[in-house]
Amino acid sequence: MQQVPNPDFLPEIMTNESQHPAARNERILVVDDSPVMCKVVKSALESVLDLPVDCAASLDECRALLAKHAGQYPIAVVDLSLPDAPDGEAVDVVLGANIATIVLTASLDQKLHEHITRKPISDYVIKQSPGAIETVQKDVVRILRNRGRKALVVDDSASFRMYLKVILETQRLQVLEAPDGKAALDIIEQNEIALVITDFEMPQMDGVALTARLRSQHPSSQVGAIGLTGSGDTFVGVRFLKAGANDIVRKPFLAEEFVGRLNNCLDHLDDIQTIQDQANRDYLTKLHNRRYFFETAVPLFNSARRGHLRLSAGMVDIDFFKRINDTYGHDVGDIAIVSVAQALKASFRGTDIVARMGGEEFCVLLVNAESPIEVFERLRQRIAAIQIPLENGEILRFTASIGVCATLGNSLEEMVNSADAGLYAAKHGGRNRVALFEKHQPE
Ligand code: GH3
Ligand code: MG
Ligand code: MG
Ligand code: MG
Repeated sequence: MQQVPNPDFLPEIMTNESQHPAARNERILVVDDSPVMCKVVKSALESVLDLPVDCAASLDECRALLAKHAGQYPIAVVDLSLPDAPDGEAVDVVLGANIATIVLTASLDQKLHEHITRKPISDYVIKQSPGAIETVQKDVVRILRNRGRKALVVDDSASFRMYLKVILETQRLQVLEAPDGKAALDIIEQNEIALVITDFEMPQMDGVALTARLRSQHPSSQVGAIGLTGSGDTFVGVRFLKAGANDIVRKPFLAEEFVGRLNNCLDHLDDIQTIQDQANRDYLTKLHNRRYFFETAVPLFNSARRGHLRLSAGMVDIDFFKRINDTYGHDVGDIAIVSVAQALKASFRGTDIVARMGGEEFCVLLVNAESPIEVFERLRQRIAAIQIPLENGEILRFTASIGVCATLGNSLEEMVNSADAGLYAAKHGGRNRVALFEKHQPE
């Protein structure tokens, strides 16, 4: 009989990734008195997020959930009109708890629009409009992502910077500020900035010059840039675009228009990231794939040949993996592969290259490690310590063999093949061990 993996296991093996919302114990709150609406929003969010979604049908229920899960809601989707809160009171309560808020409204006239947009909400969605649920879905995903992103506001007016900061924070971006182009370049150098929003006229260096300097270092697929122009000078907008800005916004503007353009810009960055990940990463483990490995490892290898850094390669292969598949089924086999991928992620630095080469085989290119054998020995122990609880109460344990090559040789292929030869030796030596391939072993 096939064993179904224990569903509790997955969140457990995620705990290394503190960035992951599920690992932070986070939840999403939906407040709407219509059970159908709650259900539709809940299932739309659950289909794209690995987070529990709680529903409240009234302000009372909303308050109870906020008390029960205090600090656990980064985002709420809130109906503007509830039986016990007809005038947006629930929106105020949720905003008061410092939760990013997406407002649901049945209708919209100018008065209501003014009323809603005076509040620091992230977005509002008209329930009956086509694509309303998809908009909520996209908003939630984007806001969760924005929390890890930095936006740089460049303007010589402190009060205008503050105005933009408030808008950007409704989208949960982290905001950095600079009073001119020169100061902005320093900040860009020291931080990973996702988006630069820059005024035109500033002392020291203007916004167009800043955009041009930014583009000489970072393409628009990596860092977004939005230029702000005064209403009088239409030519400035053109100059911004020619310098490489993704978009321009003319002052004065409505916060909503600015947020729309900002989100288009961030979505563009996300789309490019998604396409790159699809090409470079393995679907099951999210590790890099073989293609990416060889693409990025070749320049590292060449640099090592010139004496700039030290490299070693390790080939990792799960022992008797076929038995796991045969005994417990392919799904359990997949969980074992994912757990090894997590052990790999936890064992190496961002500068090392870790890839799933295929099946249950992984390759690591270790950069400037003092004693590669010790590093791989710790990995072996970490894999041997993995425990996967199965539904029948059994605990699945397994081991891996590792081959290491710590000498460069003539090519990257040769180095990887040597690590593979080390792996072969580790398997034949009895498995669950690390074996070093040495080219010039004494006879
Ligand atoms: P050894 O100790 O010598 O490495 O033996 P092994 O059983 O681990 O190696 P073998 O190469 O004989 O079997 C590997 C198996 O991995 C065969 C293949 O069906 C299975 N496999 C390959 N890719 C996947 C995958 O993505 N998921 C799962 N569950 N199994 C996979
Ligand atoms: Mg209602
Ligand atoms: Mg194997
Ligand atoms: Mg294999």
